[in-house]
Amino acid sequence: MRIPNLLAGALAALAFSSAPAAAQGRWLVAYPQAQDPVFASMQQMFAQQDVLANIVDPLNQYFPVSRDVTVELAECGRAGAFYDRTRPAVQLCYELLMELAESLMSGEEDGDQVFVGAFALILLHQVGHAFVDLMQLPVSAPPEEAADQLAAVMVGFADEDLQSAAEGAVALSEMQVDWENPGSGRTALSGRRLENLLCLLYGTSPDAHEWVVEEGHLPRARASRCEGRYQDVEAEWIEMLSEHVQS
Ligand SMILES: [Zn+2]
Repeated sequence: MRIPNLLAGALAALAFSSAPAAAQGRWLVAYPQAQDPVFASMQQMFAQQDVLANIVDPLNQYFPVSRDVTVELAECGRAGAFYDRTRPAVQLCYELLMELAESLMSGEEDGDQVFVGAFALILLHQVGHAFVDLMQLPVSAPPEEAADQLAAVMVGFADEDLQSAAEGAVALSEMQVDWENPGSGRTALSGRRLENLLCLLYGTSPDAHEWVVEEGHLPRARASRCEGRYQDVEAEWIEMLSEHVQS
């Protein structure tokens, strides 16, 4: 599995800024040992491939933080993904990755691509919570929508590398996953929240996302405004992040 170099395109967008805030922290990667034999073999595989590096390396390059923050894959005892502001740490659980893999990679032809899209989307959403917390960003949207927006903007920066994020969003919705509240019976990406996120992802590249409209996930009347909506949201985030960027 390859997690694309998410921020390859970010430098050009953000290089106008040259005034990083005082920051001594690092984004750290961790793959703590798992006890369950199945998760232990996943841990070994993910650690060997260092699947988090492609996300965390650019974060260190461009987005220094005020204190160390860990991004880790871990055995959690529940199928979730979290941002823990007390450590602080972004955590993706093997239990959740296993559920995703079982649902997405058993049959469908492009299941592995959808898995990467869902994986990246969840991880970037949690990184969004970390950004808002650690950089004390003055976001105007509610917390969950803000984290979705940051994820979509990172997908936009990644150009074509992460176009499967929209497929990941639809899959997470159909699987009725609520990764921050596992076992709640709720679905994180549904209704208005799903449509808002799909609008932004569609807006990163309408041509590549025509299927989102054709399959009825996004009303055509709304889709026509999504490219402009994405550009507004991206501009807002670039503005907020500009003083935290190191070029
Ligand atoms: Zn969240």
